[in-house]
Amino acid sequence: MQIGDTSPTILVTGGAGYIGSHTVLALLEGGYQVVVLDNLCNSSEEALRRVEALTDGAIDFVCGDVRDSAELERIFTRFEIAAVIHFAGLKAVGESVRSPLAYYQNNVEGTLSLCQAMQKAGVKKLVFSSSATVYGANAPVPYRETYPRGNSSNPYGRSKAMVEQVLEDICTADASWSVASLRYFNPIGAHPSGLIGEDPLGIPNNLMPFIAQVAVGKLPELAIFGQDYPTDDGTCIRDYLHVMDLAEGHVAALRRLSVAGIAYFNLGTGQGYSVLDIVQAFERVTGRKIAYRFAERREGDLPAFWADASKAKKDLGWSASRGLDEMMADTWKWQSKNPKGYRG
Ligand code: NAD
Ligand code: UDP
Repeated sequence: MQIGDTSPTILVTGGAGYIGSHTVLALLEGGYQVVVLDNLCNSSEEALRRVEALTDGAIDFVCGDVRDSAELERIFTRFEIAAVIHFAGLKAVGESVRSPLAYYQNNVEGTLSLCQAMQKAGVKKLVFSSSATVYGANAPVPYRETYPRGNSSNPYGRSKAMVEQVLEDICTADASWSVASLRYFNPIGAHPSGLIGEDPLGIPNNLMPFIAQVAVGKLPELAIFGQDYPTDDGTCIRDYLHVMDLAEGHVAALRRLSVAGIAYFNLGTGQGYSVLDIVQAFERVTGRKIAYRFAERREGDLPAFWADASKAKKDLGWSASRGLDEMMADTWKWQSKNPKGYRG
C-alpha cells in the first residue's frame, strides 16, 4: 500500500493496548490516519491521549468490541478504511487454560466477525498479530516461516494457529485478499519518551514488566522459572525485541499489502538472551538491583527459541535496530515515570 496525496485510514483493533498504542504512534508518524476500536478490557484510553500528544495527531477512537458486527459495520460505513491491523484479543497463556471459551470467543470469533465485516465492506487488506507460539514445541531453532504450525500446549496458542488457518482459507477462496500474519517473538521496552508503555493489570505474567515492577518497589522479588534448562546458564532463552521496532514492522507489513494472498513473517531480532542475561542487562543499564530467586519451571515453557528474521528483512525491508540496552533503558523510563501505569 502506497501513501499518495491523501493519507490512507487504517483501522487498528486493540489499538489502546501495549503493542497497539506503539503501532498507532508509528502509523501517525508514517502519515497514516488511524481509527482505533478497543473495548478497553486490558488497556486505557489514556494511552491514546498520550500518543496524540506525542505526535500532535488525532485518533478516532471507538470504544467497542470486535465481536460486535453492527459496530464494525458502522465503522466501515463512517470511515474509508484502507486496511486493518488486528491486535484485539486476549493474551495470557495461563488464563487461557482456565478460560478457554473466553479465548476462543475473543481471538477466533473476534477475527471471524472482523473478516466478515471487512468482506462486506470490500476491505481486504489485513495485518494480523500472530505469535512465535504457533511453531509449537518441537520446531528446531531458529524458527523459520517455512516450518508448519506445530501443536501448541494451550488455548491461547491454539487460537492464534486457528486464526492463521482461517486467514489462509479466506485468501485461498478469494484472491483479492492480502494478509500479513506477523509472528511476534518477545516484545519489551517502551517508547523512548517514557509516556507510553506496557501496563499489565494485576501481577504481570511476563518477565520484563515483572522485573520493572521489582525495580520500582511494587513487587519484592522476581521468581526465575527454572535453572536447569539445557542452556549455558540454565535459564530459558527468548528473542526479545523493542516494541518500537515491532511497531515499525507493522508499518512495513502494511506497505506490502499490495501483494495478494497470505504471507507469514517472524518479527524478532534473531538473537536469543537468557532470563539471567535480561536481569543483568537491566541492572547494568539502570543501576537498580533486582532481587531474585530460582523457582520451579513454569508449565509449558520451552527451553530456548529465537527467530530467523531474514524473511522480514528481505521482503519487508524491516529489521530490528534497537539493542538490549535500549530495551532496558526505555522499560525503566516508562516504569519509573509511571509507577502505577496509566492509573497513576
Ligand atoms: P494488550 O492486551 O495490551 O492489547 C490488546 C488490546 O485488545 C487491549 O487494548 C484490549 O483492551 C483489546 N481487546 C481485547 N479483546 C477485545 C475485543 N474483544 N474487542 C475489542 N478490543 C479488545 O496486548 P498486546 O501485548 O498489545 O498484544 C496485542 C496482540 O498481539 C494480541 O493479539 C496478542 O495476542 C498478540 N501478541 C502479543 C505478544 C506479547 O508478548 N505482548 C506476543 C505475541 C502476540
Ligand atoms: N519468566 C520468569 N519469571 C517470571 C516471568 C517469566 O522466569 O516472572 C521467564 C519465563 O519462564 C520465560 C521468560 O521469562 O523463560 C519469558 O517469559 P514471558 O512470560 O515474558 O514470555 P513467553 O516467552 O513465555 O511468552
